[in-house]
Amino acid sequence: MDDYDIVVAGGGPVGCFAAKQLALKGRHVAIFEEHMTIGEPVHCAGLVTQRVLDISKCSKIGIIQNKIYGAYIHSPSGTTLTIGDKKVHGLVINRQKFDENIAQKAQKAGASLSLEHKVVSAKKQENHITLSIQKNEQTQTVRCNILIGADGSHSSIRKIFGFPYPIEMLQGISAELSDTTLDPRFVHIFIGHNIAPGFFAWVIPTNTHGTTARIGLCIGKQSNHPLQHYYAALLQQPILQETTVMKRFGGVIPLGPLKKTTNDNVMIVGDAAAQIKPTSGGGIYPGLFCAVQCASVAEEALQKQQFNGQFLKHYHTKWTKEIGRELSLGMQFRKIFTNLTDEHLNKYLEKLNNHKTIEIINTYGDIDYPSKLALPLIRTSPSLLTLAPVMLRRNKH
Ligand SMILES: Cc1cc2nc3c(=O)[nH]c(=O)nc-3n(C[C@H](O)[C@H](O)[C@H](O)COP(=O)(O)OP(=O)(O)OC[C@H]3O[C@@H](n4cnc5c(N)ncnc54)[C@H](O)[C@@H]3O)c2cc1C
Repeated sequence: MDDYDIVVAGGGPVGCFAAKQLALKGRHVAIFEEHMTIGEPVHCAGLVTQRVLDISKCSKIGIIQNKIYGAYIHSPSGTTLTIGDKKVHGLVINRQKFDENIAQKAQKAGASLSLEHKVVSAKKQENHITLSIQKNEQTQTVRCNILIGADGSHSSIRKIFGFPYPIEMLQGISAELSDTTLDPRFVHIFIGHNIAPGFFAWVIPTNTHGTTARIGLCIGKQSNHPLQHYYAALLQQPILQETTVMKRFGGVIPLGPLKKTTNDNVMIVGDAAAQIKPTSGGGIYPGLFCAVQCASVAEEALQKQQFNGQFLKHYHTKWTKEIGRELSLGMQFRKIFTNLTDEHLNKYLEKLNNHKTIEIINTYGDIDYPSKLALPLIRTSPSLLTLAPVMLRRNKH
């Protein structure tokens, strides 16, 4: 039986990033990934902020595909709010190359990475975890002091160790397009019940000429039609006429930060822990951010040989203190948003569509920390609060 200090279930960016940090400390770390290629299949629109590259120290070459300066937000009635323009608000990345880069860094630091190895079961025994790992028809048993569950939205580690389930699971669909004629500096966001009930649809130019794009949408549980129906409607948008679909993929976004992310000898991180921004569905930044806290507490636990849930809980306390509030506020905002009718969405966007408000959005808008915008926005446009009673009243039902 192989013995490790740390086993990471899942070779996504979050798991590999946590593994890298622990391997750099000289720990004996193994990553098990069920797929045969890192980064595939892709389930991501690839829109991130500079913070993602800063925190991961990921190479920019071959990874950054385009820079985003602003957004056209399309209301259900078809009017458009244009925000941004002068500064870079987001980066479009090649997600597969990004994942590969982080996995390579983990291996370079000394972590072992086994592809096509699926974690099929895990059990606490005395002061360690014993795991069964399957490759093809063969099963191998490994043992570790700490198991890090970074196995994504459908995490089996979350299930095996009885962690809470995310509040919501958004269903997503996405596609790579060519032959687009887009302004490469701006993304398009579409909101409304006929286009993406419970969330939004996006069109993201993926090169500096605007000739390729990644499009997609997510829907919440209140949708009347299947995902395919909304995807077909998105493709009918005038800006997507006469484009070519190159590749299509789906995915799930778990929302609602978990109340518990540690147990005896076990920690969960990234999508497995629903560490995702509820307003945008962006999980790479919060996931990497929490991986830092996860690795740091795991390292301390190894130094002190303390693997009980009480000690590992420091990780839960740390990440909730740093980023938990932002995620919880995002859930509150989401609750309000999902209760708005198309009529309210039209009115809301109309109120935002003036020079002063747009200036505030451009100054304070931050994809990773959307709550920073709330106060300055209300201060500039107190009339936005007139919508609040409507929202709150609808919220009670
Ligand atoms: C449609 C869509 C669009 C998105 N767009 C964006 C975006 O633009 N920006 C952004 O920041 N985020 C986006 N996200 C979210 C982002 O993709 C995730 O938050 C991110 O991938 C989380 O990384 P992770 O390492 O936690 O999980 P994952 O990337 O899901 O990695 C988990 C890994 O675990 C492996 N695994 C699972 N079970 C096992 C097992 N039993 N044994 C071994 N391996 C296993 C999987 O194969 C996978 O490789 C999007 C998500 C979707 C669905």
